[in-house]
Amino acid sequence: MSLDKLRSLYKAVILDHAQMPRNYGQLTDFSYETTVYNPSCGDKIHLTILIENNKIKKIAFNGEGCTISKASASMMTDLVKGKSIKEAIELSQLFSNLAVGKNSDTLKLEQLGDAQVLVNIMQFPARIKCATLTWWGLDRALLGKEKEEEND
Ligand code: ZN
Repeated sequence: MSLDKLRSLYKAVILDHAQMPRNYGQLTDFSYETTVYNPSCGDKIHLTILIENNKIKKIAFNGEGCTISKASASMMTDLVKGKSIKEAIELSQLFSNLAVGKNSDTLKLEQLGDAQVLVNIMQFPARIKCATLTWWGLDRALLGKEKEEEND
């Protein structure tokens, strides 16, 4: 596949998630809740997560943001639903590492499902925060990190 074709495929997957986000909304019954911001772009993601038997039984997001941040939240929630807390944290770390170019192992990349297309757009550093915001929120919620909000 040519690079141009590949790029338009990535775009189509991203637009699909942004326009028809999976798991959009807010859970009324949840174990964790967090809101993360990316001031440099104006993205705001609110996550609610229901844990049962150490697994993510339900996860939902809402908020405002650009196409990339919405698509990433849709992909992330889709991917980690049904996974154990440990698996979800591992996937989040994998995504973050790939996003900053620490690891380009293709096999590992495949574990991210649709979210792997986001890793491929990371050549635009301005969008890295848009893509990683929701994963950071997941981490923060699951690990109970009380980190200060990021001031860009
Ligand atoms: Zn953004």
